[in-house]
Amino acid sequence: MANILLVLNAGSSSLKFSVFQLPEQGELQAAVVGQVEGLGGTPHLKAKDGDGRLLADIRWDSGQVTNHAQALMAVDQLLRERFAGQTLIGVGHRVVHGGAEHSAPLRVTPEALDTLAAFIPLAPLHQPHNLAAIRAIWEIHPTLPQVACFDTAFHRTQQPVGEYYGLPYEYYQRGIRRYGFHGLSYEYIATTLPSVAPEIADGRVVVAHLGSGASLCAIHHRRCVGSSMGFTALDGLMMGTRPGNIDPGIVLYLLQQEGLTPAQIEDLLYKRSGLLGLSGISNDMRQLEASAAPRARLAIDHFVYRISRELGALTAVLGGLDALVFTAGIGENSVAIRRQICQHAAWLGIDLDLEANERGATRLTRTGSRVSAWVLPTNEELMIARHTLNLLEI
Ligand code: ADP
Repeated sequence: MANILLVLNAGSSSLKFSVFQLPEQGELQAAVVGQVEGLGGTPHLKAKDGDGRLLADIRWDSGQVTNHAQALMAVDQLLRERFAGQTLIGVGHRVVHGGAEHSAPLRVTPEALDTLAAFIPLAPLHQPHNLAAIRAIWEIHPTLPQVACFDTAFHRTQQPVGEYYGLPYEYYQRGIRRYGFHGLSYEYIATTLPSVAPEIADGRVVVAHLGSGASLCAIHHRRCVGSSMGFTALDGLMMGTRPGNIDPGIVLYLLQQEGLTPAQIEDLLYKRSGLLGLSGISNDMRQLEASAAPRARLAIDHFVYRISRELGALTAVLGGLDALVFTAGIGENSVAIRRQICQHAAWLGIDLDLEANERGATRLTRTGSRVSAWVLPTNEELMIARHTLNLLEI
C-alpha cells in the first residue's frame, strides 16, 4: 500500500498544502498541490494534481471556514477521498522561526511546541499560524508524526560576527540578532547545485529569492555565510508590500512626530510599503511591468537598485563572487528584472546572454563570463517533504 506525506505552509489568511507520494525508489512526487485562501473572509479551496489538472475548486460563504483547523478538516476530507487506501505517514510544516537553537528540522512534541511558541514575538505575523496548523493536525490525527522545518535553520552557519547588531550586548543575548529567512528555498537551491550547476556548487554564490518576499543569501560550499534578512522578514531588499531595510530613525519619527501607533506602523511596514507603496499601483510585479505609469517604473527601478546594492555587500562578505542565481516568482519569470540586475552587475564580471535570458535558459551568461548567472526554480515544499521523510526514518 502506498504512503503519502502532507506538507503545510500556514499563513495569516491562507493554508498552502502539498501531498507527496513515496515512490518505491527515486524522488518524492507531488501528487496534489493546493491552497485555501481567504480564511476569515470568503474562503476558497483550490487543488491540482501533480500534472496541474484541477481536482477541487470549492468556495464557502463567509463564516463557514474561518480558521486553520476548519480549513484542515476540509483538506483532510479531500485527501481521504483522493488517497483512499493510502496511508498518511507524517506532516511537514513550514515554521518561520526556529530561533538561534534550531539549525535543523525538528520532530514536534507538545513540549517542543511550547519552545517554538516562545518565538511568536519574533515573528508575530507568521509563527502563530504555523503552530496553529500543528495543533489542528493533532486534533484530527493525534498520533501522526509532525516535523517543523524552519526558515531560519539554513542561516545558522552564517558568519558569527554578522549575527550582531550594534546594540548593547544584552540585546543580542535576549535574541535580537540576525536570523535570516527563506532558508528552505536557499537550502533547496544549495542541494540542487551539484546536479544542475556542478561548476559552481562549491563556489561563492549569491542566490536571489525574488518573490512576494525577497532576500539575497550568500552561500559558499553550499552553506549560508550571510543573508540580507535579519531579525525579522522586514529587513534587506524592498519587497511586494515591505520596505526592506529603512533607517530606524524613520520608525521613531513616525511614532513621535506623526503620532502613529505601533499597530499602524506594523500595518505600514508589512502591508502598505514596498512595490505597492512606492508605485501606488500594485505589489504584483506583472502589473507593474505592464503599466506605463512613471511610479510603476520608479518602483521597479528602486527594486533593482536595492538588489544591486545588496549584491555588492554580500559579494564583499563572500570575498568575491562566482555565480548569481535567480529564483522564486520574479526571479524565475521576469526577463526584464533579471536583465536589469545582470546589467547593473556587469562590473562584477557578469556578461549576460540576452537571448538565453529571453528564452529562460538555466544558464544566462555567455561562455567565458567571469561570473555566471543562472535561473533555478525553487521548491520549498519538496525540501520540507525530504526533511520530514528523513526524520520519520530515523
Ligand atoms: P510567494 O510564494 O512569496 O507568494 P512568488 O514566489 O509566487 O511569491 O512570487 C510572486 C511574485 O512573482 C509576484 O510579484 C508576481 O508578480 C511575480 N511574478 C510571477 N510571474 C511573473 C512573471 N511572469 N513576470 C514577472 N513577475 C512575475
